Amino acid sequence: MADPTGFLDYPRMTAPKREVEERLADWHEVYAPQDRIERGSQVRQQAHRCMDCGVPFCHSAGAGCPLGNLIPEWNELVRTGSWQLASERLHATNNFPEFTGRLCPAPCESACVLSISPASGGPVTIKRIEQAIADESWEAGRVTERRASVASGKQVAVVGSGPAGLAAAQQLTRAGHQVHVYERDDRLGGLLRYGIPEFKMAKSVLDRRLAQLRAEGTKFIAGCDVGSDIAVERLRARYDAVVLAVGALRGRTDTSTPGSELSGIHLAMEHLVAANRACEGDGPPSVDAAGKHVVIIGGGDTGADCYGTAGRQGARSVTQLDRYPMPPPERDDAITPWPSWPWLLRTYPAHEETGQRRFAVAVERFIDDGHGRVQAVQLRRVRVERDAATGERVPMPVDDRVERLPADLVLLAIGFDGVERMALLDELGLSPSARGTLSCGSDWQTAAPGVFVCGDAHRGASLVVWAIAEGRSAAHAVDSYLMGSSDLPAPVIPS
Ligand code: SF4
Repeated sequence: MADPTGFLDYPRMTAPKREVEERLADWHEVYAPQDRIERGSQVRQQAHRCMDCGVPFCHSAGAGCPLGNLIPEWNELVRTGSWQLASERLHATNNFPEFTGRLCPAPCESACVLSISPASGGPVTIKRIEQAIADESWEAGRVTERRASVASGKQVAVVGSGPAGLAAAQQLTRAGHQVHVYERDDRLGGLLRYGIPEFKMAKSVLDRRLAQLRAEGTKFIAGCDVGSDIAVERLRARYDAVVLAVGALRGRTDTSTPGSELSGIHLAMEHLVAANRACEGDGPPSVDAAGKHVVIIGGGDTGADCYGTAGRQGARSVTQLDRYPMPPPERDDAITPWPSWPWLLRTYPAHEETGQRRFAVAVERFIDDGHGRVQAVQLRRVRVERDAATGERVPMPVDDRVERLPADLVLLAIGFDGVERMALLDELGLSPSARGTLSCGSDWQTAAPGVFVCGDAHRGASLVVWAIAEGRSAAHAVDSYLMGSSDLPAPVIPS
């Protein structure tokens, strides 16, 4: 029995963060480490705010959690201090709640019934409660390996070790199949390793989960580019099924703006990978913001990751440009691509730390320093309008004024164009769609028989929670393909 008026008794309180000065001096996670007892007591109070709604919108894949997380159930278990059961219910639908608790922008909170009215004090802090259950589970030794009781004798190759690949691999291993995960990078984890900054999720959080997968029987082969280092023919001959979880890492570039060929202009991911490699001990970053005027083009979360990274590298200045207006009060849901999400979700802890954000502006040209290197960007105020013919959003100048911002390093965080070109896809005879993604049938199978796809490679660049949900669902499909039926869950269907 939930506490139906708890939200009136306890204000919404998100997790405490470390002081900005301290955060900028290291790469540790932004959120303050908390004593288990103190954290437990604060989170139990937050769980009191859940009303256990008859229709829990937080939990539904359509409006809230793609994984169908049993949110009211574990909120109630936390409220009553039943951490062991809360951990079991959380892990029943989510392989990696410590990832989503840290990285997911929490569509469940947007969907929470308490979001409807500001008078309620805001949604239940679902994300905080999820992370607390996950961290408590690890600290209390509740996360152990779950080995399959019976081996199926089937072998599955998973290509890509990001969240979708790992979720598929864990589900299939637990179903009794021998799973080999191929990763072309030298270290495992995909975007979790080289895309997500350490200050959002420590790599030790990823490493301990990888250790669990290994203990359960999943085998990993890092530094192996399937299609180059191992022939696709050999892969197909060896494995009974193949899962493609290769991500959608082709960064969108800007070749139309004058000066875009200048040096000093990089894709956001080049900056983030270099910084993550430096944190892993690979030496100084190849793209470094230290001492530079940094301009980040793009107002989304990848841009915010660059923002926090540049601050920690000691940038001279950091400016993030967003062509959309700052909502509210100027917000225009017909134009912004995130109409139903609160503004809060596009504001990240990095934005409290340093630098400035500029809204409703677009770069008109990159200025050359005379030696082929960028030294400034020329901006114009814009209003984004829909092109009637193409339906695309187009920035239109609102006046004749131009402005220059110093820029030694420009980072393009303007999105992703789908899967990268790779020999693997050519050899499988698979071509990306117009959106740059790989299509599949309702059983997650591509046009190549026995080859399945999930995660960003199928969906396009999306949230970690969607990657895990698709990985779990593809595992169900592979298990059914191999065994005729499957008891594994399938939280989502292919879009
Ligand atoms: Fe609790 Fe909010 Fe979900 Fe309702 S919608 S069950 S209040 S978390």
